[in-house]
Amino acid sequence: MSAESHSSVTPWPVAPRPFYEEAFGGWLGRVAARYQVSVAMLWEMSASEPLPAHGTAGWILFPPISKIALQQFAALARLDEQRLRHVQTPSAWISERRCMPYCFRCLVLNDADVSAPRWKREWLEPTVEFCTVHHTLLETVPASIFRLSSHFDAALRAISRYREMRKFEGIRRLR
Ligand SMILES: [Zn+2]
Repeated sequence: MSAESHSSVTPWPVAPRPFYEEAFGGWLGRVAARYQVSVAMLWEMSASEPLPAHGTAGWILFPPISKIALQQFAALARLDEQRLRHVQTPSAWISERRCMPYCFRCLVLNDADVSAPRWKREWLEPTVEFCTVHHTLLETVPASIFRLSSHFDAALRAISRYREMRKFEGIRRLR
């Protein structure tokens, strides 16, 4: 995308809308998956400023984006800016992580759209332990899954593989 095209934004042909409880990085990861590009590539094609530095948890723990970037993504996705501001990660939550907590049932059973797994913003809160819906202890996946996955679908596949591997290790231990 050329520099001048940023001033007159052509919206993306299709863009999944962010869910109210979704994390911005997760939403961006879903858009990237839709276009089969990496989150970094999507950012490069969409924003007029460099990709913010990510920590050990990659794009899922996306630092709060600038007002200009917010306007650009809102225009591209035909969204109200407020909607995108709502899913931003508070800067106080940004830290280096070894693992990311989440609830598998909530991840795959999205009440608003069963066909669209999504990463909840509340799972990024550094001290979160329990699922607010199921009242169960959250599972974890290595933060590197997001660092090494180019977009949300790739991360979902890696999460499934990780869960299978853990299950297999559990069975082996019982023998
Ligand atoms: Zn849950």
